[in-house]
This record gives sequence, structure tokens and C-alpha cells, in this order.
Amino acid sequence: MSGPHFEAILLDLDGVLYIGDKLIPGAREALTCISAAGMKVAGVTNTTTIARAQIIEKLHRLGLNIDEQHLFTPAALARQCIGEHSARLFVRDSLRQDFAGIRLDHEQPDYVVMGDIGGEGYTPETLRRIFLHIMDGSRLIALHKNRFWQKPDGLHLDLGCFVAAIEYATGKKAQIMGKPSTDFFHGICRALDVSPAHTLMIGDDIESDVAGAQRAGLHGMLVHTGKYRPAFAAASGISPDYELDSIALLPDFLQQRPD
Ligand SMILES: [Mg+2]
Repeated sequence: MSGPHFEAILLDLDGVLYIGDKLIPGAREALTCISAAGMKVAGVTNTTTIARAQIIEKLHRLGLNIDEQHLFTPAALARQCIGEHSARLFVRDSLRQDFAGIRLDHEQPDYVVMGDIGGEGYTPETLRRIFLHIMDGSRLIALHKNRFWQKPDGLHLDLGCFVAAIEYATGKKAQIMGKPSTDFFHGICRALDVSPAHTLMIGDDIESDVAGAQRAGLHGMLVHTGKYRPAFAAASGISPDYELDSIALLPDFLQQRPD
């Protein structure tokens, strides 16, 4: 291959390979080209509301060939972090299958995982339980740290507010899964056995995908599909290492770049 020395290419899913249920033209061919060039390819998404198996099902329905072990979600990486340790999970039921086989401990867990169980889930009693676990030495994992989100009746506090409350009370920092967390990108590189400096992240979100990857020492490529808006990208002050109109141009990019 004559392109740059990328050992792996990480792809954001929505906005890069598909939009909603519609495949972006050229996405299948781009995946084939990456594999044919001998590089590892992985999907990276921040989705925390459905299990990995359901995302894989969608990818396969669209003819996108990414296997389950190469699809990184916040839950999948949290599962990997926990490994053989014990954990107590505060995640929604639809996500529990991603934690299958984990050693659950509700008394003295090694890890506490905070996911999307909503404001109704994070009652003062639940927060106190988590607080006491962390004071007792449990380590805190948060599936993301978003500030707020939109529901039909308006804005609501998101998981990040509850995570911040625990961090503030305990003086300990949560390990944040999901983009743009450096821990997340490094965890993926470790799982793929590649170095960040030889890994390219491709996304349509200049902040979460591109800047997040760059801060973690990866290369960041912005595609002009999905949520990409020229004015927002220009105002962000972030300079992607590479930009393409769409993923369809990736095969040309990989072939044209000199060593
Ligand atoms: Mg996206």
C-alpha cells in the first residue's frame, strides 16, 4: 500500500456510513478498501441506549461488514475495563446484555458503572448509594458525561450532571467512556493493539470525533456528510488533519497519499 502508515481506521457510524436508515453511497466499498489495504477497521459510536448486537444487526442489514468485536461502544469498553473485576451497574435494561458474564457485586463492587437511567433512576437514594461505594474505594465509570438532552417535553438533565455530583462529593474523577474522551480512544487502540499515532479516526462531528481523536494523539478526518455544517466547523477553531466530501472518497485518499 502506498498510503500513510495507518495501522487502523476508526469510523463513526451515523453520519459517516449511514444517516438514519440510509446507507451513504460508497460506504461499503470504503470498508472493503480499508481491509484490502491490510488495515484494521473498527466502528466507534457513542450510542448508550441500545445493545451492541442491535447495532451490528443494523450494520449487516445495510451490508456493512463490521464484526461485533470491532464495534466499540461506551458499554463495550466499560465491560472490557472491568474485566474480571466485580461491578455494580446503573444502566438501562436494554444495555445489560453488553455486560453479560460480569461479576456483579452490590455490596463492595470494584467498579460502579453509571449509564442512562434518567433522572427518575438517579434518585437521591441511588446517588447516595453510588457516593458511598466510591468513598469505600470503588472506581467510577461513566458511559458518557453529557450535560443535558431533549425530550418531547423539553430539556432534561443528562447523565453528566449526576456523574459530576458524585465526582464533586467524592473528589474522585470518573473514567469517561465514549467520544471525545481520551480514555475511550486509548482503550480502543489498546483493544486493537495499534498505536494512536498510527490510527485515523473518521467522523462527521468536528468536536467529538475529530478534536477528541486529535487530543488522544490520533489523526482526525472530517467528512462533509451527516451533521457536518461548514459554518459550525469554521467557528470551532479545530483543524482536522484531513477532510473529505464523503467516505466514498476514502479509497482514493488511501491510494494517493505518498509514504
Ligand atoms: Mg456521527
